[in-house]
Amino acid sequence: MMQKSFDNSKKVSPLRFLPAVDSLLDSAIVKTMETEIGAQKLADLARLAIADLRQEISENDNGELSKEILFKKAERLLQQKLASLKLKQFKPIINATGIIIHTNLGRAPLSEAAISAVAQIASGYCTLEYDLEIGKRGRRGRQAEELLCELTGAESALIVNNCAAAAFLVLSGLGAGGEAIVSRGELVEIGGDFRVPEVMAQSGTRLVEVGTTNRTSLKDFADAITEKTKLIVRVHPSNFRIVGFTAMPNLEELTQLAGSQKILLYEDAGSGALIDLTAYGLADEPVISSSIKSGADIVTFSADKLLGGVQAGIIVGKSEAIEKLRRHPLYRALRVDKMVYAALIATLRSYQHAKHFAEIPVLQMLAQTREEIERRAADFLRQAKDLKLQSLKLEILNGISAVGGGSAPLAELPTTLISLESAKLSSRELEQRLRFSDSPIIARIAENKVLIDLRTVFPREINEILANLQLIDSD
Ligand SMILES: *Cc1c(COP(=O)(O)O)cnc(C)c1O
Repeated sequence: MMQKSFDNSKKVSPLRFLPAVDSLLDSAIVKTMETEIGAQKLADLARLAIADLRQEISENDNGELSKEILFKKAERLLQQKLASLKLKQFKPIINATGIIIHTNLGRAPLSEAAISAVAQIASGYCTLEYDLEIGKRGRRGRQAEELLCELTGAESALIVNNCAAAAFLVLSGLGAGGEAIVSRGELVEIGGDFRVPEVMAQSGTRLVEVGTTNRTSLKDFADAITEKTKLIVRVHPSNFRIVGFTAMPNLEELTQLAGSQKILLYEDAGSGALIDLTAYGLADEPVISSSIKSGADIVTFSADKLLGGVQAGIIVGKSEAIEKLRRHPLYRALRVDKMVYAALIATLRSYQHAKHFAEIPVLQMLAQTREEIERRAADFLRQAKDLKLQSLKLEILNGISAVGGGSAPLAELPTTLISLESAKLSSRELEQRLRFSDSPIIARIAENKVLIDLRTVFPREINEILANLQLIDSD
């Protein structure tokens, strides 16, 4: 120990050769980074890179470092810092997972019509709360609400920030100070911290649990009703299913019970669907118009799940209940902005004109058959062949895509996958290379292969993926 430090003291410390921040910022390589993150942030990163280098030198006794070597090392550290900063940016990615409604990846991509409506409304002023006919203040959200009534058969509608906000507003506005009855089989957690018992507690509504995890009868509900009961709540168990020995009264039975006792039936449909998606393996998803027809007083659902629109929570139902929610102070805090209305109206108009399958990406992706995806995959392989890839092997496999977004956990959409294997990289490394690219591609790994599911890849993104494969192959 003593001996070593004695030796060191005789050498010139390489710390003396550490580059100064200004000289690092003057390097040609570093200068090109300035346009990407700005001079201030770049100087911060340069300081951090030099500090890291100083730390590295003090910890490792490597006396051979020249000024030039240290400068190169500092440049490399700075490049790494910039790369990791860029990986943390909010930016578009290519979803090759095959999971259509991927909450981490932004759920529903918008339709062309929704995108241009947002751009138009965002670029100037609009009739958000203005009635052109009378030249005075108008009702916020009127057109979107009217479209929702038309499409669901509901008397009234109200739009808030997301379905969690919708549930919170309904419980706060219609349940607070009283009791709400929920089956033990529906006290679910939806992911992203939405837990029915906790939302209920926060709203000031007392939760009355009835039945068991797998079986709840109409009598269980009826027996739990007291003069304090304000709501019967049904929650669609979006992301899981209880199968086997199960029982649950249907919606009609519950709405009749609620009606006979002068309490309200509230259904949180979660994703919900504006149209019947049974043909696509989604027989379990509540169709909102059916819930309304069954007599539900209030139904809530997300606008960016199966509906295929923008993030919003939709509340539809009987006018008296909805108007109470519109007047509630929480509504003001949960309401949405003009761009949300623009995107939502455009999306709803696709349904109104029966053009939803042609125009809404989520529905297009859902409706793609395995054969259609196989044709696209075969075409992809043909194009890849022209690239004469050396180290990457592409193959076609049969597989399954998921709906995602906490919808239809049991639905399996048959698909065709492109599997990628590299002679040089492990599947983890290959998956990471795709993810780290300038147009990040999110793929999955199974059985040591990287899998690309074109169901969720837009045709316009194909060239980007091919270019990436070529780049990875040539490295
Ligand atoms: C997804 C979901 C929610 C939450 O919806 P967000 O729009 O994400 O807030 C609430 N309830 C159910 C049943 C759901 O499926």
